[in-house]
Amino acid sequence: MPLNAAWHKAHPMPKNATLDERVAWHLAHSAACNCRPMPNSIVAELARRRTALASSGETRKD
Ligand SMILES: [Zn+2]
Repeated sequence: MPLNAAWHKAHPMPKNATLDERVAWHLAHSAACNCRPMPNSIVAELARRRTALASSGETRKD
C-alpha cells in the first residue's frame, strides 16, 4: 500500500468539504494512491449514485 506523498501534497482535502468534494477527492485518491481505503460513507454514496443513475435511465446497454 504505497503512499503517494506527492499526490497528497498536491491534493489536500478541503476544510469543511462537502459530500460532493469528498466523493471527488476519494475517487481521485483511489486512482492515485492506496494508502487507505475509501470510507464506508463514500462507498455508500457512490453506490447510492450508481443506483440513482441506473434507475433514472431507461436505455441501459448492459
Ligand atoms: Zn493516499
